Order: sequence, then structure tokens, then C-alpha cells
Amino acid sequence: MKIAVLPGDGIGTEIVAEAIRVLETLDLRFEMESALVGGAAYEAHGHPLPEATLKLAKEADAVLFGAVGDWKYDKLERSLRPEQAILGLRKNLGLFANFRPAICYEQLVGASSLKPELISGLDILIIRELTGDIYFGQPRGRRTAVDGHFPGAEEAFDTMRYSRPEVERIAHVAFQAARKRSKRVTSVDKANVLETFQFWKDIVTEVGREYPDVELDHMYVDNAAMQLVKAPKKFDVVVTGNMFGDILSDEAAMLTGSIGMLPSASLNASNQGLYEPSHGSAPDIAGKGVANPLATILSAAMMLRFSLNQPEAADRIESAVQSVLAQGLRTADIWSAGTTKVGTREMGDAVVAAITKKTITG
Ligand code: NAD
Repeated sequence: MKIAVLPGDGIGTEIVAEAIRVLETLDLRFEMESALVGGAAYEAHGHPLPEATLKLAKEADAVLFGAVGDWKYDKLERSLRPEQAILGLRKNLGLFANFRPAICYEQLVGASSLKPELISGLDILIIRELTGDIYFGQPRGRRTAVDGHFPGAEEAFDTMRYSRPEVERIAHVAFQAARKRSKRVTSVDKANVLETFQFWKDIVTEVGREYPDVELDHMYVDNAAMQLVKAPKKFDVVVTGNMFGDILSDEAAMLTGSIGMLPSASLNASNQGLYEPSHGSAPDIAGKGVANPLATILSAAMMLRFSLNQPEAADRIESAVQSVLAQGLRTADIWSAGTTKVGTREMGDAVVAAITKKTITG
């Protein structure tokens, strides 16, 4: 099992270090190799995704990724900015399916800004198509308008597009994931306005006929945004395009009130995947030893389950995380009165100890 470890920038190095310690506690054999990515790679090699880093990622079974970015790179030309490394990895590895679970841990119900009864027991899975849609569609650019409301004015444009195979494959991913859960899929679109999403809806409906045991419903994206805060537990698996998924998955993440808790996985057709926390590089707290490493540790658990075929090891990590929360340990982002505030390293120590204890006591 070969893992490419790309810690990146800001808190990336601190949180990935804890995830590695957790992986090393498991009695499994991994080959782990690290490389620079993002701003760190730009500083050392002049590019956020150097050839050597891409090669390592391509040859690995899975990539464990921290986070990239810092405000100091905001003035760089777009192709050299740290965030381009993520787009480059998605594109080169063909990572078309993004899994973002939004789970509300019972001990953290109070961290949400929603009423406890709305989010207690929340467990939804957003599946976002990751390599198509308006983020990648060509043509795009700036030009002088020849028509529209202001002919002759400067304008900018992007292209929203999906091909049939792109929609079919993400729909299959969603229905298969739903089969392992409560067998419900909500496909989110904007079919009332956009041709691309009427096409999306038609194809998801067609694919759904191959999964008669899974209940499918369709929802417009504006309604989905409302329902996510009104009655989030109505959802189980949500499947949607790249742009809607970008926005809705962040909204779903914040339902739980704790961005430091949320893992993610991006997979290609051969289950090779990139695993990363849902948050960014948090430059405001980098180097202070206070970042929450649990999203990255839980991403490592997803890696074991999806790409490395080690579901029991994934379960062990997830139950160790539950156990440290039950002990009342909290990093600053999820701290509340009556619990014990710990730093990044201590949180990692606690997860390692919980795994070791379970191993010894069986
Ligand atoms: P961010 O997610 O880094 O931080 C938002 C807020 O959440 C900050 O207050 C931060 O301190 C806090 N936070 C984030 N992760 C935390 C953790 N594990 N523990 C405790 N608190 C945590 O988002 P931002 O501030 O908008 O962006 C910062 C940089 O990260 C930017 O350069 C942005 O482009 C980049 N970014 C990278 C990724 C990625 O690498 N996948 C994703 C989002 C943003």
C-alpha cells in the first residue's frame, strides 16, 4: 500500500503529522513518501505542483493531502497559485467523484448554530462531480460583447457543460453509495433554467432505473440550500454537479458547526483517491499547535476504507475519534464550557492512545 503524503502549507504540516502517527499505530504495512505541494512547492521549485510531486501521486494507491494556500500568494499569476495544485491533481488523476460526509457527532451538537433537534444524529453524504461543469468548461475568458444588454462593452464568460458519460458515472457512484446507506438519493439541479441540468436530471433518472431498490428524488439547488438548513436530516445521499456541490458541501459542513471535523475523499474510476480535510490551510492559526487534526485523521480512515481496502482499520480510527470526544477532549474550534481544551499534538496523542488501548483490551 503506497501512500503519497502531501502536507502542503499552513496547518497542513501539523495536521498531516498527526494523521501519519495514527496510521503508524495500526499494525499495517504502508509505504509512505512525502513531497512538497502548494506554496511550499512554489517556494522550493517555482511551481505549486512540481513534476516529481505529480509523479509520486500518480504512482501511489492514495494521496493523503493537508491543505494549501496563504494570503501572501494572492498576487501571483493564477497558474502559480497554491490552489492550482489541487485542480492539477484532480485533473491528472481523474478524480471525478468527491465524497463529503457531514456527520454531527453527538458530543458536538452544541457546536452547530442550528437547534440541536435539527442536527442531532445528522449523517448525510454529499457526492459532488469534480472534474466537469462550469469550472472546467471551455471556452472561457474576457472579450468585447457583440450582443447582450451592452454590445461593445467588456465582458467575461464561462461555459457550463456536461457530457453523458460524466453524468452517468457520477450517478452510478451515488446510487452505489446509497445502497450501503439508507437507499435514498437526492439529485440537485437547476433544470428549470439550465439546459445542462435538464440533461443532468434526465440522465440521473435513466441511471436510477438500474437501481430500483434506491429511492430517487430531484430538487432545485435553491430549494436544496434552504432545506439543508430547515430540515437537513431529510437528506441521505445528495448528488450534484461541480459548482452546486462546491457550495452545498460547504453549507452542509457548517451544519455540524465544526469545519475541523470533516473529512473528504476524491476518487477516480479505479478507486485511487485523494483524501483531505474539508478546510483550508488556516494561515491565521498555522504554527500555533492549536489546529484540529481530526478531519485529517478521519480522512485517513476514509482512505483506508475506499482506496486501501482496510475497512476494519478505518472503523478503529473512527471509533478512537468517538472515544476521545467522549472523554471530553476538544481543540479550540470545538471547545465548549465543561470540556478540556487540547492542542493539535495532544489530540493526536489521544487518538493514538485510544487505538492502542482498544488493541490491547481487544
Ligand atoms: P480555512 O478553511 O483555511 O479557514 C477558515 C477558518 O476556519 C479560519 O478561522 C481557520 O482558523 C479555521 N480552521 C480551518 N481549519 C481548522 C482546523 N483544522 N482547526 C481549527 N480551526 C480551523 O479557509 P480560509 O481562511 O478561507 O482560507 C485560507 C487559505 O486556505 C486560502 O489560501 C485558501 O485558498 C486555502 N484553502 C485551501 C483549501 C485546500 O487546500 N483544499 C481549501 C479551502 C481553502
